[in-house]
Amino acid sequence: MSTLLASGKGQELFQALIDIIYPAMCPACQKRSPVWEMSPLCPTCWSLIELLPDYLCQCCGLPIVGLKNFSDPETEDFALCQSCLLERPSFVTARSATLYNRESPVRAIILALKHAKNLSCIRPLLTLMINSIPQHLPRIDNEIVMPVPLHWSRFMERGFNQSALLARLVARQFGLGYIENVLLRSKRTAPQAGDREQRQHNINNAFSVRKPDRIRKQNILLIDDVMTTGATLNECARKLLEAGSGQVRAFTVARVAI
Ligand SMILES: [Zn+2]
Ligand SMILES: [Zn+2]
Repeated sequence: MSTLLASGKGQELFQALIDIIYPAMCPACQKRSPVWEMSPLCPTCWSLIELLPDYLCQCCGLPIVGLKNFSDPETEDFALCQSCLLERPSFVTARSATLYNRESPVRAIILALKHAKNLSCIRPLLTLMINSIPQHLPRIDNEIVMPVPLHWSRFMERGFNQSALLARLVARQFGLGYIENVLLRSKRTAPQAGDREQRQHNINNAFSVRKPDRIRKQNILLIDDVMTTGATLNECARKLLEAGSGQVRAFTVARVAI
């Protein structure tokens, strides 16, 4: 065997076997990733990831086109998007690492993780989060990390909650506490579709809190994979506040700029 591996043909054969067992394919473009050991996402796809611009709604993090004088925290003169002006969400701040659209490699890796159960996709998603969180969210005391939960039946189907995998690793990276199974998704909802109002209506009362003592007066950082209108995060935050938590902030890998 060692003689075979030492020869060029042997090495090729060995590599072919490794490729069958661990296909080193970029989940976004399906080409071989030359840096797979570090990240399954290939350098070309990394370069296509769109980070969020600077001009964001100071509450929900929505990019606001044409916004110039966007924040003056000293005077609390925050720029808000139309939706947050009409009704402030229950979370104080929501931010994301990247933009999410049909062409985004981030969309491809999130789908590969959720539907193809390609757990190697956790690594690039985590990298995006830990690079962006310090920039977007100043540290606050007494904050614990919590994932947006899946309904138990969806958890049984998928076998894991991608938001919980990410949240646990984010907590470890930043030395924060981590808690799960306190906020529960008690109602199974169809994948979110429709406009803001429709989404909020669908998600209303989909969550509940058990053992509220564990979160009383604790500030919470909610973690999810994608933020669309913010209806899910808003409802989670509303339930947590109702149960006596401190302020709730949210961070997602990606957000849809609608
Ligand atoms: Zn690629
Ligand atoms: Zn907003």
